[in-house]
Amino acid sequence: MILSDQSPVTHSEPLPPATDVVVIGGGVIGACTAWYLAGAGLRVLLCDKGRIAGEQSSRNWGWVRQQGRDPAELPIMMESNRIWQGLAADIGEDVGFRQHGVLYIAESREDSERHEAWVRLATEHGLESILLTPDEIRSRLPGLQGNWLGGVITPSDGRAEPFEAVPAIARACAGRGVVIRENCAVRGLETGGGRVSGVITEDGAVACDSVVLAGGAWSSMFLGSLGIRFPQLTVKSTVARTAPVADFYPGNAACANLAFRRREDGGYTIAPGDIHEHSLSCDSLRYAVPFIQVLKQSWHETRLRMDGGSPGGHCYTRRWPLDGESPFERQRVLNPRPDPAVMERLNRSLAQRLPALAGTTLVESWAGMIDTTPDVVPVIDRVGAIPGLVLGSGFSGHGFGIGPAAGRILADLVQGNAPGHDLGRFRFGRFSDGSPIEPGPAL
Ligand SMILES: Cc1cc2nc3c(=O)[nH]c(=O)nc-3n(C[C@H](O)[C@H](O)[C@H](O)COP(=O)(O)OP(=O)(O)OC[C@H]3O[C@@H](n4cnc5c(N)ncnc54)[C@H](O)[C@@H]3O)c2cc1C
Repeated sequence: MILSDQSPVTHSEPLPPATDVVVIGGGVIGACTAWYLAGAGLRVLLCDKGRIAGEQSSRNWGWVRQQGRDPAELPIMMESNRIWQGLAADIGEDVGFRQHGVLYIAESREDSERHEAWVRLATEHGLESILLTPDEIRSRLPGLQGNWLGGVITPSDGRAEPFEAVPAIARACAGRGVVIRENCAVRGLETGGGRVSGVITEDGAVACDSVVLAGGAWSSMFLGSLGIRFPQLTVKSTVARTAPVADFYPGNAACANLAFRRREDGGYTIAPGDIHEHSLSCDSLRYAVPFIQVLKQSWHETRLRMDGGSPGGHCYTRRWPLDGESPFERQRVLNPRPDPAVMERLNRSLAQRLPALAGTTLVESWAGMIDTTPDVVPVIDRVGAIPGLVLGSGFSGHGFGIGPAAGRILADLVQGNAPGHDLGRFRFGRFSDGSPIEPGPAL
């Protein structure tokens, strides 16, 4: 159920010679930005080097989660939750959004303290989040095995079907007049009069006033070609889904080594939640210093690999001629292989924690390459060095849920409107102006 370069091309409209805004990247961030820009009456071209939602945006767990968010992200995520509630009606298609809550299980004193702190933050924001006793967890999740101290649930949190939702948003964009082109890499920008004046795509040049870079794991490479440093690395995460089974829990839940959510097809999306792999590349060295803190925090969860699995491989070029093939065309869709060792561990966790699911067939497994920043929160900002360029990237493993509100904000930044939230934490300049790097919560 993931999208890849094997999926049919569904958007291949001719390139216009000129438009108002070019959005680079057809993931959830680019698609939602295009939706709001077109809603404001602007002419929009949305280009993806591969497929709409081919990378992270069809491969994620589908959690639409306010719970556990960074304090600065929370108001934006609460807006996004409201947008998700009305999204199907807005775009005219079901996106699988259902509100059955996100539940975290506390298996250590530190987990419980984190949950208590979270509930205080949620309460300050008027968001209902409830601490649960061990018995309350047992009654909500009767099949779950283990010793836990308690847990926390945010009932208004939800889930959606990523591989359906993002293509549906793209179809709605097309309905609003957005020109969408798959298999169309944007190789670089053109500038004139000290600002963005157009893009060069593999299919030709398009003049425009503004560009939104929503390139997911590729944004650092794109900006690098313009001489702009964006510290961003990737980690691979393996996921699987079960065949349809009896509904033992309708929402999303996570304990120490297992995360799961109910799917609309009657199965469960499951993942280990506490393991990811980082493929060492030149960027690992280039950005080692800003990432040291987050690496220390997640050391026990990170497996280092030498398999060239990062975008662009071990060491990619930061310069390419705009009239020749770029790295974006050489790797249309990042489609990493799920890790067999992680799959084995996942099967063991299922047997230990959810015996009811242990014998169930895992009908599909896949992996996704998560793009992350040193402080695990995105950049949502104008790029000062190039007026007309706006960056929405680095969503660090939690961009699906926040996508609709992030898209609304990015569209307002393009138009020079007030964003409606304090975006200080998401400034691009924080990585270059000496600001301390303060990693937010990862899950
Ligand atoms: C396994 C996994 C589980 C996750 N679980 C969750 C979850 O439960 N909840 C949640 O909120 N988030 C989750 N996430 C994170 C979430 O999926 C991402 O944060 C989000 O999808 C990022 O969206 P994006 O649009 O920024 O990037 P992507 O979806 O990666 O899209 C970027 C697009 O840009 C295109 N592109 C790049 N460069 C160019 C170029 N030069 N020209 C044209 N196109 C270009 C790419 O082809 C790609 O399609 C998870 C991620 C993974 C991988």
